[in-house]
Amino acid sequence: MSVSDEEIRKIILPLMLSGAKMLDKHCPKCGSPLFEKDGRVFCPVCEHRRKEKLREMKGIEERLMEKLTELANSLPDDVDELEKHLRVMELIINLLERYKALEGGK
Ligand SMILES: [Zn+2]
Repeated sequence: MSVSDEEIRKIILPLMLSGAKMLDKHCPKCGSPLFEKDGRVFCPVCEHRRKEKLREMKGIEERLMEKLTELANSLPDDVDELEKHLRVMELIINLLERYKALEGGK
């Protein structure tokens, strides 16, 4: 995905003003110029996108946790219903574990 005007305005411009050095190399992923700050070369756009994604995932994770708590607090007596209930809980737990694994890879 290439860099949008908004990303240039919100990410790249403030970075240039902050004194980071713009290199004449470009990010192979998004085409943004790479920057160097404190001896570290990085793509500001990809970094920003990664952070946004993590924030989004955190939101999903929180909602899943809420749902899980809600389900755990309202287990039905009927065995068939209980089985359905537990299956959904299992799915949520699997999803949460997958999110955790993804976040660990940041
Ligand atoms: Zn990039």
